[in-house]
Amino acid sequence: MKMPEKIGTEMFAPCGVNCQACYAHLRTKDNCGGCLVSGAKKRGSCSSCIRKNCAAEKGITYCYECDDFPCRKIKSLDKSYRLRYGISLIDNGFTAREKTIGEFLKQDREYFLCKECGGIICEHNGTCSECGIKKEEGQ
Ligand SMILES: [Zn+2]
Repeated sequence: MKMPEKIGTEMFAPCGVNCQACYAHLRTKDNCGGCLVSGAKKRGSCSSCIRKNCAAEKGITYCYECDDFPCRKIKSLDKSYRLRYGISLIDNGFTAREKTIGEFLKQDREYFLCKECGGIICEHNGTCSECGIKKEEGQ
């Protein structure tokens, strides 16, 4: 999938995941439209997300809007994302809170943009969804 000129703010999930670069969004078959995209099909593990439901119960959209942020629920997912993908969802949340979601996504767009072909590099497998090149460490 080609990287859009701008990643829409609806692609920023409550937990801090950038849905635009998610494998479930990038796959060609049965793809997920994004956590907050209304009416869109959702990835299985995200459709019953404890974080999204928790935020909804508190009347907020994003975890970073919560007084308890970062709580145990987000810390466990953050840990797994840091270890497996080198991404901190808590840092994403803090950045979005400080600079706005739009600014965060602008930075993240550069991070996941394939410099070879303009495609989207998957945050989960580190590979460009368009040309298949692997994102190099520290690129
Ligand atoms: Zn590429």
